[in-house]
Amino acid sequence: MKICFRCKEAKPLSEYTVDNKSKDGLRSTCKACNAILGKVWVTANKDKLREKGRGERWKSYLRSYRKEHKADRAAEARRYRAKYRDEVRAHRRKHYAENKEQLSAYRAEYIKNHPWFNREASSRHRATVLQRTPKWVDYEALKEIFRNCPKDMVVDHIIPLRGKNVSGLHVPSNLQYLTPEENGKKSNKFVIEGACETT
Ligand SMILES: [Zn+2]
Repeated sequence: MKICFRCKEAKPLSEYTVDNKSKDGLRSTCKACNAILGKVWVTANKDKLREKGRGERWKSYLRSYRKEHKADRAAEARRYRAKYRDEVRAHRRKHYAENKEQLSAYRAEYIKNHPWFNREASSRHRATVLQRTPKWVDYEALKEIFRNCPKDMVVDHIIPLRGKNVSGLHVPSNLQYLTPEENGKKSNKFVIEGACETT
């Protein structure tokens, strides 16, 4: 027999749940009391539990909603961007002006850790200026190529963006990795602008 800590009744050991953390290997309160305590706890924490449940349900709802309405949401975002383009631009400009130092510090830090980022950006900028980046380009794939460029190699346009006879596009299939030496040789052969940014 063991006396329950809560109801103070002496009850057979079978009336107690096993608890490896306690000294005698059993819970200090009997099963009947545990049931009551459990209910009391649930009542006391009802709001908290409900909030949690609601949070989980809400999250899973959002997940499935986003998945189902992916195309709609993209179209909506496009419309929104078109509609508020000027406002957004003004807002960005203001935000930039107000946080100039912090933002440029962030950027410098990011570029320090991701050197390929600048190379991709300047390569894309050149391609854009030369009107060689098609609208349908897979921008993520482009970034991936620059991100994965082996050290000591450069990303090169197989067909130069501004070749003598034919001009290539700034697209993944027109990119290759070359050593700077190979790229230099190529630059001599083609128009100099055919080589992309090397540093
Ligand atoms: Zn009890």
